[in-house]
Amino acid sequence: MVKLTPLVAFVAFIVAMAPELAAQDSAPFPPPRLEPRIVTPGRTSADPPSDAVVLFDGKNLASWRSSDGSAAKWQVRDGYMEVAPGTGDILTAEPFGDCQLHIEWATPSIVKGEGQERGNSGIFLMGHYEIQVLDSYDNKTYFHGQAGSVYKQYAPLVNAARPPGQWQSYDIIFRAPRFDEQGKAMERARVTVLHNGALIQNNVEIFGNTYNDRPAVYTAHAPLEPLRLQDHGNPVRYRNIWIRRLD
Ligand code: MG
Repeated sequence: MVKLTPLVAFVAFIVAMAPELAAQDSAPFPPPRLEPRIVTPGRTSADPPSDAVVLFDGKNLASWRSSDGSAAKWQVRDGYMEVAPGTGDILTAEPFGDCQLHIEWATPSIVKGEGQERGNSGIFLMGHYEIQVLDSYDNKTYFHGQAGSVYKQYAPLVNAARPPGQWQSYDIIFRAPRFDEQGKAMERARVTVLHNGALIQNNVEIFGNTYNDRPAVYTAHAPLEPLRLQDHGNPVRYRNIWIRRLD
């Protein structure tokens, strides 16, 4: 056995205890160096703050494209856009990563279909991670497939759905996944969602792409990717869409 002199033993003790001693340090945390930027809030919390990118203000689809890059083909009328079934998903022209997103939607007032076939659409963060849009008012389906679910991963904490035809809102706070150079997800994506003002996803860790027919898995992608809205064959409406970059 190695014999320690009293001095070496003392130094070894101090080194071993250093984290403990540091944790007990009563010095205050360093104060923030940067003054928060001034942002002029919207008239209500549904209106865009001054630093938001407005993705849809009710007038046109200038900020959106079809997945082949051509003009988005959904209908615009009376201040909203509506899925034109069969024309495909639409994506933002600009890409986004960490963000705060406000989006309003309404499922058809004429109720058709059951379960996943009733008022289905979806908001794909970075084009990969779906927050489900569905008529979940008196419409049974699997819990991690109802409105506000992280599709096939997390049910919403509560069902805060309004009846079909009424406008509803999601406020989404999203942290993008971080990939290493080999494309491995070193940090998973995280998301917080409020549905009509009620918290339904509380900073959950997303397990990967939200497939409907196979287990979630991450596939490496760019740090910024377009937001995508789903054409699931139902004429779901959207309005008042704005996003704040958090990266
Ligand atoms: Mg969907």
